[in-house]
Amino acid sequence: MSERRFFVDKIEPVTAVTGEEFRHAAGVLRVKKGDFVILCDNTRFEYRGEVISVDKVSFSVKIAEKRENDREAKADVTLLCGYLKGDKTEYSVQKAAELGVKRVVVFRSEHCAAYMNENKLSRLNKVAAEAAKQCGRSVAPQVVYFDDFAAALSSVNAENKLFACEFASETTRDMSRLSGSAAVVVGPEGGFTEAEARRARELGYDTLYLGRRILRADTAAVTALSVVMWLLGELK
Ligand code: SAH
Repeated sequence: MSERRFFVDKIEPVTAVTGEEFRHAAGVLRVKKGDFVILCDNTRFEYRGEVISVDKVSFSVKIAEKRENDREAKADVTLLCGYLKGDKTEYSVQKAAELGVKRVVVFRSEHCAAYMNENKLSRLNKVAAEAAKQCGRSVAPQVVYFDDFAAALSSVNAENKLFACEFASETTRDMSRLSGSAAVVVGPEGGFTEAEARRARELGYDTLYLGRRILRADTAAVTALSVVMWLLGELK
């Protein structure tokens, strides 16, 4: 088992891990004095150290080594996804974090059947952080929410802007030449409207067609991101 990872706000020579990260460490992982752990502060560095004390609300880590994390993707990729029912969005966020995305923008669109609230958004950020730790990253992708479709799409500035459209007939970008940053938009269970597809084009998005079968939204997110990450050289 590789050493446990925890996110903290700030690294000090002796860093206290508190709050949610501590509760998980104490309750589930049973972190104890003498264990070695890795602390991450959402930068490209990570810090290895020894647990020197554990109390009821925190444990303290004496930092022994600062090193560069080599698992972050070089490519800056953002997933934009329609908000899904139940815990489906959690699945997309988790997989996106594993595949190396830097940011997830969840949006509301015409055919969305679910409503976001602050608790759900903070839960999604937690899922992103857990997934980041699990796959050895040092940065947790940030999850943000827009209740306006066009505002969500406009919030991302990427060299390759791709809009996964289930009623398209072809991909309008030469994917073999993909390089640089990318944004991938995937709709909710109900799919997109023609007007939304038009708006996406106006906002500079190319159409990404994933074939004749209609994929579920979470499948489409994983598929589109896998293809993009592969083409950007991130999966080798
Ligand atoms: N309810 C819709 C399907 C929505 S699928 C229907 O029955 O037609 C959910 C989302 O996944 C879509 O909005 C799109 O972003 C993506 N998607 C699914 N299949 C796709 C495909 N073949 N090509 C491109 N995108 C696809």
